[in-house]
Amino acid sequence: MVCPICSWSPDTSDYVLLYETRYWRVVLAPNQCLVGRCVLHLKRHCGDVADTTPDELLEWLTVVKIIESALRTAFGATLFNWSCYMNHSYRENPSDPHIHWWAVPRYNHQVEIDDWVFEDPQFGNPYDHYRWIKAPTEIHHQIAEKIRQAIGYIDFREER
Ligand SMILES: [Zn+2]
Repeated sequence: MVCPICSWSPDTSDYVLLYETRYWRVVLAPNQCLVGRCVLHLKRHCGDVADTTPDELLEWLTVVKIIESALRTAFGATLFNWSCYMNHSYRENPSDPHIHWWAVPRYNHQVEIDDWVFEDPQFGNPYDHYRWIKAPTEIHHQIAEKIRQAIGYIDFREER
């Protein structure tokens, strides 16, 4: 079975590449029910957080700081829900998980992008995992661009 996270790489129109470091890559999630929702995944195939190296963990912290700062700058995120589940991998036997962290910004206010209004109806509580908003491609890419600009990330591949 091909690992779906390894096959995300390096970039697709749904999982838009936002930022990468030596060990980690950040992509925009297709579901933008909470605007700026993204996924931070380890570049190597590793299935258990306990098996990450000290170097990878230190760099993870750096990336967390960068993403939180960018989402505050881009959309005024109020707080962040970070989670690492990997539940879906275990629907298969044998399982083949790959470490990925969900970076989910939470908002005490609406965010408007063009004529789209993003809300956080469960603010102050866990978000609804079944609430799905797939923004039009143009809006999805605007969201990605705002985050990239806030990070100051330049994807050099686009300039080739
Ligand atoms: Zn993988």
